[in-house]
Amino acid sequence: MSGCGGKGGDKPLTDCCSQPGLMPFEQALAQLLDSVQGGKQPVEKVHLTAALGRVLAEDLCAELDVPPADNSAMDGYAVRVADLAAAAGKPLTISQRIPAGVDPEPLQPGTVARIFTGASVPEGADAVVMQENTERDGEQVKMPTEIPLGDHIRRRGQDIANGDAVVKAGTRLQPQHLGVLASIGIAELPCYRPLRVALLSSGDELAQPGEVAGPGQIYNSNRYSLTGLIQQLGMELIDLGTIEDTRAATIEALQGAAEKADLLITSGGVSVGEEDHIKAAVEQLGEISLWKLAIKPGKPLAFGRVGQTPFIGLPGNPVSAMLCFQVLARPVMMKLQGAGELHPKSVMLPIDYQRSKAQKRREYLRVRRVEQDGQLVLKPYTNQSSGVLTSVAWAEGYAVIPADAQIAAGDRVEFIPFSELA
Ligand code: AMP
Ligand code: MG
Repeated sequence: MSGCGGKGGDKPLTDCCSQPGLMPFEQALAQLLDSVQGGKQPVEKVHLTAALGRVLAEDLCAELDVPPADNSAMDGYAVRVADLAAAAGKPLTISQRIPAGVDPEPLQPGTVARIFTGASVPEGADAVVMQENTERDGEQVKMPTEIPLGDHIRRRGQDIANGDAVVKAGTRLQPQHLGVLASIGIAELPCYRPLRVALLSSGDELAQPGEVAGPGQIYNSNRYSLTGLIQQLGMELIDLGTIEDTRAATIEALQGAAEKADLLITSGGVSVGEEDHIKAAVEQLGEISLWKLAIKPGKPLAFGRVGQTPFIGLPGNPVSAMLCFQVLARPVMMKLQGAGELHPKSVMLPIDYQRSKAQKRREYLRVRRVEQDGQLVLKPYTNQSSGVLTSVAWAEGYAVIPADAQIAAGDRVEFIPFSELA
């Protein structure tokens, strides 16, 4: 199979023709990322309760200290340490009571203040004694004679200082970011509008789940795995269903999709069989490059634009479609969405696998982590065929076997958990 059609328009396209052989993963990724601009999505205000997973469009800075005042970490007594030494174990008078949320009077010298967790420490007090270490008798209380200065006081601004950039532009907001932004009193967050991603599947062999599949038909699984992946990224799905394998239907569907969407994703139809119409259709409506990637699974990948809308044509093969989405489309989508972190974080782990003959393509094995002799080891699924979608369903992530590498059992390889691809 060749990645290039013999028939050409008049455009000098298709990288694979100018560059025979396979395109390395890094080169494909760099080229994809270079061709799109981030931070172009419109910005809208989103309430804290609706902002989970959204990408923040501006740095948000604190205009106050958190906590706003020195406060007590314990239920007990606010004291001046020097007064305890002077009292030498004799009871001291309780001169005020300070519950949380109250603005206290300065501490009268030679007395203590009853204080509760979270309440402001009165001026003049320099420590809090926990109530368990005291002995109360009416309005008098016996104290230890020695405690460290500053004991059980949470200092003003110890969490956030006025002026700190608390959450940076480009952050995909997680529950902890929402909490921290709430703690500085901000309710409405400037977020990029979710990317609108149009998804089309191509192939006359595709039946819809819920229908009876006819002879020679298979169920459309890519539509649903890709829908899930798009939704996991917090983006807006425009589900355009399945396109019939004709040039006219493909052109119509792509043109319509490009008007509504910020990005077009298709699966299937990017090989060069005469039933693969996506390439010709995109070529007519914009431009397309067709790459034979040096990754396994997932050889054919198309990239270009329909009108001005970026287009990514994933392979039809269900495992390849998911993998190419996760490792190539996802960073592009993150960039378009304005996210700061485009790439998954991986860890190095030993693998229970060997390969004495190096391969030309980087391989993404579907693996689980299992414990062996007290350490985590990557275990590949028994059937790594690119048509076996259950391998992905079984796995926790990918082990990356670099191109041109031999692997001995126990070698450490890169592990990318699926959670890093969400
Ligand atoms: P294609 O890239 O269209 O040549 O498809 C490659 C392989 O993937 C063929 O075996 C197709 O039947 C299969 N395939 C394509 N699209 C889908 C889909 N949406 N769901 C499941 N399998 C598909
Ligand atoms: Mg097809």
